[in-house]
Amino acid sequence: IERTFSILKPDATERNLTGAINAVIEEAGLRIVAQRRIRMTDAQAKTFYEVHAERPFYGELVSFMTSGPVVVQVLEGENAVAKYREVMGATNPAQAAEGTIRKRFAKSVGENSVHGSDSPENAKIEIAQFFTDSDIV
Ligand code: ATP
Ligand code: MG
Repeated sequence: IERTFSILKPDATERNLTGAINAVIEEAGLRIVAQRRIRMTDAQAKTFYEVHAERPFYGELVSFMTSGPVVVQVLEGENAVAKYREVMGATNPAQAAEGTIRKRFAKSVGENSVHGSDSPENAKIEIAQFFTDSDIV
């Protein structure tokens, strides 16, 4: 059994889509084993997206992620990392497959409703930035 880290981004919480997106997650067979609604600080967002620090959209990304509440989650299931990436769809909603979260809900490549870890190793690192072991049940 594997875990992945998920964020429902500010464009999703702003449109009251937490429940709709969680339904897609659960219907895909992933279990929400930790969840908290937070306002990310500038420092948290910068650390979280440090790998993208040199990319041209980094500043825009950090300011978007701190622009409103987000829901941070730990998802558990068989091949959770790959499965959630599949359920999310492509980064750019215009390229996302039918039925995926980003196809259904994302507004643009930047405001794309969800984050999911890209490897089991990164999932562990990302989960540890927001949750302790006792938060995960
Ligand atoms: P995430 O890491 O959020 O799950 P991803 O792995 O599909 O998404 P990354 O390449 O890791 O995509 O980019 C991280 C995030 O940066 C994207 O989800 C998106 O919000 C933002 N982003 C990526 N490319 C662009 C772009 N060209 N313009 C604006 N924002 C972008
Ligand atoms: Mg990524």
